[in-house]
Amino acid sequence: MLARGAVTSTPRRIARRIAAGALVLAASAAAAQDIDPGPVQIEVQRLSKRVYMLSGLGGNMALLTGSEGAVLVDSEYPSLAPKIQAAIAALTSRPVRFLINTHAHYDHWGANAAFGRGGTVIIAQANTRRRLSGPQVIALFGTHTPAASAEALPTVTFAETMTLYLDGERIELAHARAHTDGDALVYFREANVVHAGDVLIVGSYPFIDESAGGSIDGMIDATAALIARTHPRTRFIPGHGPLASYDFVVAYHDMLSRVRARVADIIRASATTAEVVAARPTREFDAQFLGTLMKSPDVWVERVDADLRRAGVAAAGTGAQPR
Ligand SMILES: [Zn+2]
Repeated sequence: MLARGAVTSTPRRIARRIAAGALVLAASAAAAQDIDPGPVQIEVQRLSKRVYMLSGLGGNMALLTGSEGAVLVDSEYPSLAPKIQAAIAALTSRPVRFLINTHAHYDHWGANAAFGRGGTVIIAQANTRRRLSGPQVIALFGTHTPAASAEALPTVTFAETMTLYLDGERIELAHARAHTDGDALVYFREANVVHAGDVLIVGSYPFIDESAGGSIDGMIDATAALIARTHPRTRFIPGHGPLASYDFVVAYHDMLSRVRARVADIIRASATTAEVVAARPTREFDAQFLGTLMKSPDVWVERVDADLRRAGVAAAGTGAQPR
């Protein structure tokens, strides 16, 4: 169901959007990678009576509206703040009382300051606040993000779980170490909607940020937790891409698990990274999951390979124990 003024997302638009997001990440090796807001529209998709998915450029957002104030999940780029605020104002007259950041990447919190200076309480997992407090570098994309300003920093943090109660909705936050070490999975229990941040990417193999504490094993555990805590009618807002179904999350978890197992098996057979890549362990999944975020299956396999070798999966006979 779409809200007033909403724009329908076609597959081509979605592909363009993911590609543009990847380009924004990849092209901006300079300081804070703000974007040109000119062509960006904030698309609004209504998911329940009071929960919406909002998408501009950058990470998808979730919005809960109600008489006790709005709750926003993620905030995209600074230059989009006026458009995001206008989209929210069209849906509710109440202020944004809480802003939850799913993790420390700039395309998910860039507009924090616009909300923080207006009195919104910004919430994040403790590791995410710590990462926002200093400069961040993503080697794969060559991005450098300076420390967040005081107005953009989360003012409330949680370690493992936190629950917010507003207008009869129960919002459960759960910590995961998956895409980064400070991921927050956000469950809107009454609406039966989950914002999974970049733990879930639709339309591409996921980017797992090992430089921020992410890992393939963490992604497998976190997606297993998503499945265990929801049911077949739950809808999932991914960090990037269109709204996802429970069945998609099951298939995505299965893909992660199988690729991990295959790469580990090949490593244990004393293969080099080049041999792991040459074995094409993602072959059956490429049509569904390759997308644009990873330039090729090889890039993604190399990242999984490096991650598993770091985690102690080693060739037979080296004495290291696989986990
Ligand atoms: Zn991210």
